[in-house]
Amino acid sequence: MNNTKAYAAVSATAPLAAATIARREPTPHDVQIEILFCGVCHSDLHTVRDEWSSVMPTVYPCVPGHEIVGRVTRVGSAVTSHKPGDMVGVGCLVDSDHICPSCQAHDEQFCPEATFAYNSPDKHQTAAVTYGGYSESIVVDERFVLRIPKNLDPAGVAPLLCAGITTYSPIRRWGDISGKKVGVVGLGGLGHMGVKFTKAFGAKVVVFTTSPGKKDDALHLGADEVIISTDARQMKQHAGTFDYILNTVSADHDINAYIQMLGLDGNITLVGIPEKPLPVAAFALLFGRRSLSGSLIGGIRETQEMLDFCGEKNITADVEIIPIQQVNEAYERLLKSDVKYRFSIDMASLKK
Ligand code: NAP
Ligand code: ZN
Repeated sequence: MNNTKAYAAVSATAPLAAATIARREPTPHDVQIEILFCGVCHSDLHTVRDEWSSVMPTVYPCVPGHEIVGRVTRVGSAVTSHKPGDMVGVGCLVDSDHICPSCQAHDEQFCPEATFAYNSPDKHQTAAVTYGGYSESIVVDERFVLRIPKNLDPAGVAPLLCAGITTYSPIRRWGDISGKKVGVVGLGGLGHMGVKFTKAFGAKVVVFTTSPGKKDDALHLGADEVIISTDARQMKQHAGTFDYILNTVSADHDINAYIQMLGLDGNITLVGIPEKPLPVAAFALLFGRRSLSGSLIGGIRETQEMLDFCGEKNITADVEIIPIQQVNEAYERLLKSDVKYRFSIDMASLKK
């Protein structure tokens, strides 16, 4: 066991604070990583505050963080894919059973035995649950360690490991979106990556935002148009015109207002996970044969494909780098939709 500095919450109402956790000694198939940057995902906040208690109750202490970038410091004797010194990434997935149909289909996120970076039962029993990336180091099975393209800035790469793959995967699965009218709802961590990817795939990108102050940024990020979703007139103008919409909203909202934006056979995919269920109006779906679907991160192979694509196209997240000591303030800003457009924690600050 190795003692590691981390930031943890001890209850749903406690702020994150300095803690010491144990990491296992690398097994023959493990990679030990010194964490350089970790993105702050809204899922970290939902989990720390136990907002998903009915589906995934939080076990405390909770060390969040699943947008991890760092350098390999040690590898187990059987590891072939990574070596000390390599720049690598770890996202939401750190293990799975490798034999179920989902694993066979490279969709490890749906494996019944999927182990997530934090708040999942720890198979290695180092602790009751896994601890995430708000820490100095992590030990992960080599099959869940991703290669990071050398040309990309590590602070901006970290968010690709969750916000990146969560938006890339449904957009790719929808099909060829080039020339299609695509909406991205919510310009936060996921949303701004959604804009970058839909733009890169040649769509006509429209951002729906509740924050008028984000309009110029949205256009700068690649949006062709911006709709202030609180303005009924603007919403009405675009009703029934979208081929596809990606909904990244983290809080309670009227999903039907966005379903109405879809044209015939249009689809809206939910990736945001608000605390409470969203009531869906059947009529909004029926007229226009519209559909509503969901998507959860992406498999490991697809995550590597996304990282390689980002390397080729020079795509990273727009980040505000913070020391770990400012993470509680960052959570409060997330709740106010005040993030441009992802916080990336500089883990060197943990040594202070
Ligand atoms: P974020 O950075 O906080 O962005 C969320 C955005 O939603 C805000 O910036 C805001 O954008 C918009 N928003 C907030 N409250 C709203 C409201 N009441 N009505 C309409 N829009 C509102 O969060 P994130 O990290 O991108 O995560 C977004 C959601 O995705 C979270 O629920 C998270 O847990 C979930 N998530 C899911 C997956 C998955 O695999 N499916 C993976 C990661 C995260 P505007 O200011 O532009 O309105
Ligand atoms: Zn996430």
